[in-house]
Amino acid sequence: MYLVRINVRSNKIGYEEITNDSKYFLLGARGLTSQIIHDEVPPNCDPLGPENKLILANGILTGSPFPNSARTSVGGKSPLTKGIKEANVGGRPSLMLAKHGIRALIFEDISSDLKLLLINEQGIELLSCNQYKGLGNYELHMRLRSKYGENIGVYSIGPAGEHKMLSASVAANDLEGYPSRHAARGGLGAVLGSKGIKSVVIIPPQKSKVKIHDLKKFREASVPFAKELTDTKKVFSTFGTPLMMRPMSERQGIPTKNFRFGSFDKISNISGEKLHELVIARGGKKNLACSPYCVIKCSNLIVDEKGNHITSSLEYETMCLNGTNLLIDDLDSLAKIDHFCDDVGIDTIEFGGTIGVAMDCGTIPWGNANAVFNILDKEIRKNTEVGMLYGNGVKKIGEKLGAHRIPEVKGQGISAYDPRVFKGMGVTYATSPMGADHTSGAAIAGRVASQIKDYGELTQNKGKINLSFELQVYTAVLDSMGCCYFIGPSYENMEIVTAAINAMYNLNLTRDDVINIGKKILKTELIFNEKAGITKNMNSLPEFLKKEPSEPSGLKFTFTDEELQTFWEKLD
Ligand code: SF4
Repeated sequence: MYLVRINVRSNKIGYEEITNDSKYFLLGARGLTSQIIHDEVPPNCDPLGPENKLILANGILTGSPFPNSARTSVGGKSPLTKGIKEANVGGRPSLMLAKHGIRALIFEDISSDLKLLLINEQGIELLSCNQYKGLGNYELHMRLRSKYGENIGVYSIGPAGEHKMLSASVAANDLEGYPSRHAARGGLGAVLGSKGIKSVVIIPPQKSKVKIHDLKKFREASVPFAKELTDTKKVFSTFGTPLMMRPMSERQGIPTKNFRFGSFDKISNISGEKLHELVIARGGKKNLACSPYCVIKCSNLIVDEKGNHITSSLEYETMCLNGTNLLIDDLDSLAKIDHFCDDVGIDTIEFGGTIGVAMDCGTIPWGNANAVFNILDKEIRKNTEVGMLYGNGVKKIGEKLGAHRIPEVKGQGISAYDPRVFKGMGVTYATSPMGADHTSGAAIAGRVASQIKDYGELTQNKGKINLSFELQVYTAVLDSMGCCYFIGPSYENMEIVTAAINAMYNLNLTRDDVINIGKKILKTELIFNEKAGITKNMNSLPEFLKKEPSEPSGLKFTFTDEELQTFWEKLD
C-alpha cells in the first residue's frame, strides 16, 4: 500500500510505499491521519494555511470483506477546534482507494486555483476544474458521473468548503451515487477548500491490490461476526438511527430548544416510526448500506410525495439538532434541511446547534423552517456575511450574539445527547481530543464497553469515567481499522478485530496489542493538542450545563473539573 503526497501548489505527486518495517505499518484511517498530523504539522499553524495537511485515509481492514470496514478518515488540524481532528465517513470511495493500493492521500500546501484529483489505472493527476466553481455537491456529482461514469467514487466539497466556512464538510458518494455521506465534524471541508481541491474522482480498477494472507482464517473471524451483526441489528437496520428519536425524548435526554429541555411534546410528528411510515408510503428506501461490506445497512432514502429524491441518510443527530432543538416538527422540513446541508457541504450537527443559539437569542423565530432553508440555500451558498456567520459554527455565533448558553466544547458544537442526562456522553464530550464529538466514545443508552462490567445507571455518574475511557480507546481502534463504530467498540469485539488483522497481515498480535494501538492513537492526539494549546484544563462543559437543570429530568452535569482533567492519566 502507498501514501500519495499531492502538493496542490506545484502539482507534484509523490509516492511512499508502506512496508512492514514502516512506522505507518498497522496504522490506518484515524491512526494514520493523527500520526501524520502529529509528525508533520506544526501544532500552532493556521489550519487554513500552507503548513496544515488534509489527509484522506482508509483503514487497515479496508479492502477486505470484514463487516463495515470501508470507511474513510479525513484528518487535519481543525479550523473549528484548532486541535487535531479526524472525521470518518462511509460511501464508495474508500474501498476504491484501497483497491488501487492507496492507503492515504495527503494534500499539502494551499492553492487558490480550483483543482480535481483524478485517480485511475493510468495514474494520478491534478486537473484544473474552474468549471465546477460554486457548485453544490448534488449538481457536481451529477456532472462528474456523466463525465467519468456511473461507477466512480467521489470526495468533494460544496460552496461552504470553497468559502472556507469553519463547519464545512467533506462529502463522499453513497452506493446509490448521492453525495449524502459526510465527514462533517470539525470543518475539514474548509481545509480541503484551502487546498483548492473541489473533488477527488476515483475510477475503480479492474483488479484489487489488497491482499489477505490467510483467507480461511480471515473468514473464520469475519463471517460469524457478520452473521451476528446481521441477526442482532435487525431493528436498527429497519429503522436506522432515527429510531432513537422517541426513546431519547422519553428518556428526557434529547436536546430541545437549544438544550433547555430533554423531551419534546411533538416528538410523535418526527419519530423514527413516523419517518419509516412516510418512507414506505412514498416508495423511498430503507435498509441501505452506505458503503461496501456493510452488513447493518442503517441508511435511508427519502422521497417527496411525487417520488422525487429529497435526501439520503437522514440521521438521528440531524433530526434532533435541526428538529427538537429548533422546535421544527415536520419530517419534510428536516429532510430538506439535510438536503441543503449536504448540498452546500456543511455539518448538520454544527449547523443545527448554530441555529439553536440564534433562535435562543431571538434572531430567528423558534420553529421557522423557511428561515433555516433561506440561510442554507441563499446566505451560505452565496457566501454572504450572514452566511459566513452561520457557516462558522456554534461558538462563533454565540460570541457574536453575546449568548450565555453556547453548547460547545473546545469550539465544536455538542451533539444530540444531553450530557446532563447521558452522563457517559458528557464525559466523552469534555475529554475527547476531538471536541464535543459523540462518535469518539458514544455512551448511548444500552452501550457498554464490556459485557462483564457494570457501568451504572445511564443518568448517574457511577462508572461513566471508565465507560467513556474504554469506549474512546476501542473506538480509536475501530476508526483505525476503517470500521463503522456501529459494529460495537467493545472489549469482546477487540478479539475479533485482532483475529482479522492477524489473518490479513500474517501476524500474531494479542488483543492487548490491538487495544494498545487505540491508546497510542489517543496519546498522539493529546500530545498534538497540548502543543496547540488545547490543554487538559479545557476538559470541561459549558457553565450553563452545570448550573441549569435539564427539564423535565432536573439533572445537571456534575463531574468535577479534577475528574475530567485527570481523565487521560490512565493512558500512561
Ligand atoms: S451501519 Fe450505517 S453508518 Fe455504518 S456503514 Fe452501515 S450504513 Fe453506514
